[in-house]
Amino acid sequence: SFVVENNGEQQVAALLQELLGTSDFGSFVNGEVVTGHGDEINLINPATGQAFLTYRDAGKAIVADAADAAINAQKVWWSMTASARGQLMWQCGVNIRAAAESLARLECISAGKPIRDCRVEVAKVADMFDYYAGWCDKIMGQVIPVPTSHLNYTRHEPYGVVTQITPWNAPIFTGGWQIAPAICAGNAVLLKPSELTPLSTTVLAKLLEQAGIPRGLVNVINGLGQTTGTAAINSPATKKVVFVGSPKTGAQIASAAAARVIPCVLELGGKSANIVFPDADLDRAVVGAQAAVFSAAGQSCVSGSRLLVHQSVYDEVVERVASATRKLAVGLPWHEDTMVGPINNQKQFNHVHSLVSDGIADGATVAAGGTAGAIAGGANGYFYQPTVLANVKNNMRVAQEEIFGPVVSVISFNDEEEAIALANDSRFGLAGAVWTADSGRGHRMAAEVNAGTFWVNGYKSINVMSPFGGFGESGYGRSSGYEGLLEYTQTKSVWVETAKDAAIQFGYSIQ
Ligand code: NAD
Repeated sequence: SFVVENNGEQQVAALLQELLGTSDFGSFVNGEVVTGHGDEINLINPATGQAFLTYRDAGKAIVADAADAAINAQKVWWSMTASARGQLMWQCGVNIRAAAESLARLECISAGKPIRDCRVEVAKVADMFDYYAGWCDKIMGQVIPVPTSHLNYTRHEPYGVVTQITPWNAPIFTGGWQIAPAICAGNAVLLKPSELTPLSTTVLAKLLEQAGIPRGLVNVINGLGQTTGTAAINSPATKKVVFVGSPKTGAQIASAAAARVIPCVLELGGKSANIVFPDADLDRAVVGAQAAVFSAAGQSCVSGSRLLVHQSVYDEVVERVASATRKLAVGLPWHEDTMVGPINNQKQFNHVHSLVSDGIADGATVAAGGTAGAIAGGANGYFYQPTVLANVKNNMRVAQEEIFGPVVSVISFNDEEEAIALANDSRFGLAGAVWTADSGRGHRMAAEVNAGTFWVNGYKSINVMSPFGGFGESGYGRSSGYEGLLEYTQTKSVWVETAKDAAIQFGYSIQ
């Protein structure tokens, strides 16, 4: 544990001084920390409900400066050799690891996420830079055997400048997740983190520059979506938008991108089904059910917030998950043994409470939790008891809307067909899982459930090497892996005439 007093004000100031070179927080543009021109924004410590830092919304002029810096830096970056870019990206991973504990603490205090989870996420960010460092000199086109006298080949070129907009639930993780493939492919970045959790991403950009990435290649513009986010999307420099966040905002972003005829990737929410068959190893399934929904206090896009359980083991699984849930260590995020921290903000807290209340009004029963719970030292924080709702029907609001909190709805099914139908009776399709001893059934479920990620006898494994993304209203486009890298490139087809006596004619060349 580390000591956090006065809502973390002094600790955050010291960490910013150490990592950013100043405690006077703002945006990170062309290698400098700059003060915004817009309204003041207060950062609230989720564990205490009290403000600990104030900064100003960047606004249009700063976004314009960032766009100019990005255009220039991208030219420098793209003129370097591919292996030189790879070496610098490798150094990014080294620098992130060197600063890992301070980064994790900054994230912990400002996002309210348990320190143990913050450490894992920072380590994963370093891995992302290692992984994409290796891709820099392996982005290759193809030679296509066209039936004419041409050499035809493809080039994967960068877009130039991309805008990335990220949410509050995993700030440094989602930032690194998108920055690494973007710069690997040769782009410059304008990144707008959530206004609620901008600190760690801003520091990350500084660390990248210290590793040798050109000044201005990664700019972090801090402020509100409506002002700073909109300005970034509408900047003529932006050639693609990658958005990670809620479906409602995602639809607005897609419209704004469409109005400029630029492409976008949407990584949105979920209501993932975690399915337990009676032949499963129930010890593992019970642990998996908790890991699926209570880590990060359920504020994870892949949360297994719908637990579908076969009716023959329904009562047993509800009882076992509920009794394990009551034992989860809820506490201040900076305590080493805390497993479940607070919800990040008041609005989200109210949303969780409203969905639970609706579920109960609709006939769900509370098997564990179900209440807001102040804890010692965090009396005004946004703590919510990890909650198990039993007797939920899939058509209830609590089973259809993303809850993004520490709440699992347990729903019963009779056979495999019904399990598939219930899993797919959702507008989302981000993730899903099945627990069964029958490997054939595991593969069948993987094929039948509509989801971008599916686990058999596990939950929540993800890796930068493997593609990630949504089906349905969970979004489109892919992040991570080679597919995530290709999202940051545009393909050019080059035709070179090789015939000695080329037959050029009016209209299409048909030789
Ligand atoms: P949100 O949609 O409210 O905000 C996300 C970002 O969009 C923020 O930076 C915000 O400032 C910005 N924004 C808001 N309005 C905007 C506008 N009009 N123009 C431009 N930018 C705008 O989401 P949130 O509440 O911060 O995050 C929670 C959501 O994120 C959940 O739905 C969760 O499932 C989703 N999420 C998805 C993934 C994934 O990979 N699929 C990962 C993490 C979180």
